[in-house]
Amino acid sequence: MDCLFCKIVKGDIPCFKVYEDEKHIAFLDIDPCVDGHALVIPKKHSNAFTEMPPEDAGALFEAVNKVSNQLMDKLGCSGLTIGVNTYASAGQTVMHTHVHIFPRIAGDGGGTTHSIIRAAKSSDMAYIQNLCQKINEK
Ligand code: AMP
Ligand code: ZN
Repeated sequence: MDCLFCKIVKGDIPCFKVYEDEKHIAFLDIDPCVDGHALVIPKKHSNAFTEMPPEDAGALFEAVNKVSNQLMDKLGCSGLTIGVNTYASAGQTVMHTHVHIFPRIAGDGGGTTHSIIRAAKSSDMAYIQNLCQKINEK
């Protein structure tokens, strides 16, 4: 398969690796948004987070938790933003599941998850309740 991150897993393309276990690797982003911007990926290919079996998604987030603490300890940052762009609509460009970790420090000028999109049609309680019902429909 012609997948960039599968090639990194195989060692065909080099990377700045910061973590590895049996099922995951983490490496520094080649076009970092902030110093220490890291990507955690499963070694097994999946196109996007929602296509992973739940148990694999859980294991991926165990690795994300370890790399998060590693970045906090080694870089001395005081916070992190963690994100998974899922499908092109959300900006995913490499179609191999990956989790971004952005080290953060107070006053770094970056935004929060709330700055990714502000497009809700309404914050009216009845409207939100209606959405809640829709999501819970059997
Ligand atoms: P996304 O837009 O969520 O699909 O993120 C893909 C990320 O992969 C981007 O932040 C790219 O800078 C990064 N990237 C692309 N190629 C490489 C590479 N060879 N090594 C490390 N990071 C890469
Ligand atoms: Zn892949």
